[in-house]
Amino acid sequence: MRATLSAEGADWPSIQKRLGQMADDDIDWRAGRIAVFVFHPGNDVLDVAKDAYGMFQSENGLGAASAFPSLKKMEDDVVGMGLDLLHAPEDACGSITSGGSESIFLAVKSCRQRARARGMDTRDAEIIMPKSGHPAFDKAAHYLDLKTVRIPVDTDYLADTAAMHKAITDKTIMIVGSAPCYPYGLIDPITRLSEMALEHSLWLHVDACVGGYFAPFARMNGIDLPEFDFRVEGVNSISADLHKYGYAAKGASTLFHRHKDQQQYQVFSCSDWACGEMKTPSLAGTRPGGSIASAWAVMNYLGVKGYCEKVRVVTETRERLCSGIQEIGGLQIYGQPQLGLMIYGSANRDTQMIWQGMFDRGWFSPPLDEPPSIHLMLSPGHADHVEHYLEDLNDVVAKVPISTQNGHMRARYT
Ligand SMILES: *Cc1c(COP(=O)(O)O)cnc(C)c1O
Repeated sequence: MRATLSAEGADWPSIQKRLGQMADDDIDWRAGRIAVFVFHPGNDVLDVAKDAYGMFQSENGLGAASAFPSLKKMEDDVVGMGLDLLHAPEDACGSITSGGSESIFLAVKSCRQRARARGMDTRDAEIIMPKSGHPAFDKAAHYLDLKTVRIPVDTDYLADTAAMHKAITDKTIMIVGSAPCYPYGLIDPITRLSEMALEHSLWLHVDACVGGYFAPFARMNGIDLPEFDFRVEGVNSISADLHKYGYAAKGASTLFHRHKDQQQYQVFSCSDWACGEMKTPSLAGTRPGGSIASAWAVMNYLGVKGYCEKVRVVTETRERLCSGIQEIGGLQIYGQPQLGLMIYGSANRDTQMIWQGMFDRGWFSPPLDEPPSIHLMLSPGHADHVEHYLEDLNDVVAKVPISTQNGHMRARYT
């Protein structure tokens, strides 16, 4: 039935109670029950993110340069800190966007505009990317009259750079690598992609949406990661989400450009209306001041030390899960995860049935189809639930009959 607006309104305590009741059927992320959609860095960080959001929830990032120098300063600081972490050159720049999809959209749009400025007819121009790349590129291509060309990954689940190289045509404008990709949590060979990009004068975008505020600290913790940031010469732009492992309130990501001259292709400006020029760097008009303030506050609260500690907790949690899973007969980890994401499945049982068994016990994580597997995106909040998870997994696996058949793994991102 369609809702109607109440005639008189209601008092806040009763509304607050109703909100609480509505959440009763939601997955209990505070209890570590979900390994997708939510990042739980600990209650202190959540409070900083929430309070900072509240302090600037009415301020508007659209007026950052004119009315709210506070937000301008915060955005400059957040972009500066991100550029620094990703070893960007002096001339680099960036913006805060509403999320990874918007950051990717703007990178693709900038690339397309640059190609047009160089005289190319960009209708159906191509973005070459691994099969493991995020659908945000397809969404951007859909809006921008471009095409994605998805190349199957190698046996190690990394981008097949030789096959990507072969796929380059005179319609190609962009190549994409992920750091890491969402499905497998693995960092593509960005150095090799960079050589290809430089050789063919193509725009290389590194999608570090889920790794941009994780991998730099993992490296500081001594984890031996492949190069993926602006130190790799051919990288033109990087997307990195503040609302994932940056632990900011939702509605915050960053897009970084190697050179200022790339950013001119991102900006949209219109003067043909009654109020004079309106010039915006992103898709949004009104931009929530709260999400900018939240990102600024959490970054300053955690600092390098805080992020390194969070990353340590997550990578240790992943290692404990990996070894526990490998001790359960027939289960295996796919690829060599080094960050906070991992997948596992079974070679001798139906992984779909294992997924269903865990789901029935209240563990919510997305199934993956290629290969049939169970996906975990971990945050510090999972550290206390590893034993419980492994106990349940042990029980569930024992009840699934031996078979080489796999049911269809149907992911739900709706
Ligand atoms: C999350 C994610 C995105 C999309 O970001 P949203 O904030 O959900 O729009 C893109 N790429 C990767 C690798 C991601 O993990």
